[in-house]
Amino acid sequence: MGKKWGRYKAGGRSQPVSCVYCGRRTPRIKAVIVRKHYGIGSLKNIPGLDRRRVFLPQMKAYACISCAKHRRMI
Ligand SMILES: [Zn+2]
Repeated sequence: MGKKWGRYKAGGRSQPVSCVYCGRRTPRIKAVIVRKHYGIGSLKNIPGLDRRRVFLPQMKAYACISCAKHRRMI
C-alpha cells in the first residue's frame, strides 16, 4: 500500500520509442536507454527544494541499436 510500483510495467507490451539521434522508431525492448542529465545547478537555484523528494534532473531517452553501437554505448 502506498508504494508507487507497477507504473513502469503497465501492460508489459513494448511500445515503440523514437531514437534521439536518428529519430527512427524502434521497439523499446531493443532500444538503448540514454540518460541525459541536465545541470544540477539549475536545481540549486530553487530555494527550499529537497533533493530527495525530487527526481534527479535526468531525461530518459532512447537510442536505436545502431546509433548506440555507433556511439559505443553498448
Ligand atoms: Zn538511431
